[in-house]
Amino acid sequence: MLSVVETAHRYMALARAVLRARRAAYDPFKLTWILTEACSQRCQTCNLWATDPHSGPDLPTIQKVLKANPQITWLNLSGGDMVERPDAPSIMEAVTSELPNLALLDFPTAGQDLEATLAALAPALESAVPRIYVTVSLDGPDDIHDTVRRSKGSAARARATLRKLQTIRRKGFSAVAGMTLSRHNVPEQMPADPSSLLPNQLPLDSIHLNLAHHSSHYYRNLSDVAPPVESTQSLIEAVESGRKKRFSPLAFMEARYWSIAKKYLKNGDVGGRCGALRASVYLAADLTVYPCSIFDRPLGNLADVGYSLRRINTLEEAAPTLAKVDARSCPGCWSPCEAFPTLLVGLGNPL
Ligand code: SF4
Ligand code: SF4
Repeated sequence: MLSVVETAHRYMALARAVLRARRAAYDPFKLTWILTEACSQRCQTCNLWATDPHSGPDLPTIQKVLKANPQITWLNLSGGDMVERPDAPSIMEAVTSELPNLALLDFPTAGQDLEATLAALAPALESAVPRIYVTVSLDGPDDIHDTVRRSKGSAARARATLRKLQTIRRKGFSAVAGMTLSRHNVPEQMPADPSSLLPNQLPLDSIHLNLAHHSSHYYRNLSDVAPPVESTQSLIEAVESGRKKRFSPLAFMEARYWSIAKKYLKNGDVGGRCGALRASVYLAADLTVYPCSIFDRPLGNLADVGYSLRRINTLEEAAPTLAKVDARSCPGCWSPCEAFPTLLVGLGNPL
C-alpha cells in the first residue's frame, strides 16, 4: 500500500527538481540510463544487436551510481532489453531502495520473456515509487511486427507479456504498447483503414506511438528509418481522434508532445530549445555521459566525476556541448525521452 505522505514527498521532490532545472543546467531531474545494449531482437530500426552490444555496468557499479545520485526523481531504465539481464531484479531492488526521491520509474521491454519481465518489475511494484510505467514494444499487426523485429512469434510473445502486465492492479502502475513509427511499418500510401497498421486487437488508449530516430552513438542505425511524413501524420491523427478524451496533466502533455511532433515531422525542427543537460541527461552502457540519446557528443565518463550527475559540469566537454544544445547545433529530434522533460521545463518558460 502506497503511503500518501511518501507519495506527496516524492512528487514534491520532482516539482522542486523541475524548478531547479529551469534555473540552471547540469542538475537534470530525468536520467535515461542504458543498462545493457544486448537484447534478443534483431530490429530493422536499430543496429545495436549487430555492433558488439555492451553488456552494461555490473551491479556494484550500478549501486555506486545510485548512491552518488539520491536526487534522481525520474529514471528511465533502457537498453537493449534491461529485463533480459539475469540480475534485473537485483538492479530494480537497488534502484528502488537507493533513490529516496524517485517519483517516476519507467522502462521499455521487447516483452519476449514474460517471467523475466515480472521478476524485474516485482521490486518496483513493492516499492514506494508512486508512478511506474512499462512499455512493451509492438510495432504493428503481428506479421509486420515480426518482420520489423526479424523474429517469428515476437508479436505473440510481446502481446502475452502486455496482457499479463495489464492485469496487475497497483496504484500508479500502467503498461502500454509502444509502437515506433518508421519507414518499416508505415507505408507512403495510407490504407483506407489506418487502424490496420496498428497492433492487433488493442484499444487505442493502450497504444503509445513514437517516431523512429537516427542515432550514431545509440541505435547505430541508418538515417533513413524516419517514417513517411504524410501517412504518419494521418496515422497520428487517426489514433488521437479515436482515443477517449482525458483531462489530466499527462493528457495535456501528450497533446503538446503530438502537436510539436507533427511540426517536427513536417519541418525536421521543433522550433524551440531543448531541455537536454538541463531537464534530462543520457548515460550510456559504458557510463559515457551524452546530452541525449541522439546527439553523438560525449561529455566524458561518469566514473571520472565520482559517478555524480551533479558534477558532469566539470567534464571537459560539458560547456561546449551545452552551448551546442542551446544553440540547437545538434541533429535535432523530438524523441520522447527528452521531449517530455523538455516540455516540463519549458512550460511557461522562454526555453
Ligand atoms: S530496438 Fe530495442 S529490441 Fe530492437 S534491436 Fe534495438 S534494442 Fe533490441
Ligand atoms: S534536440 Fe534532440 S538531438 Fe538535439 S540535444 Fe535535444 S534531444 Fe538531443
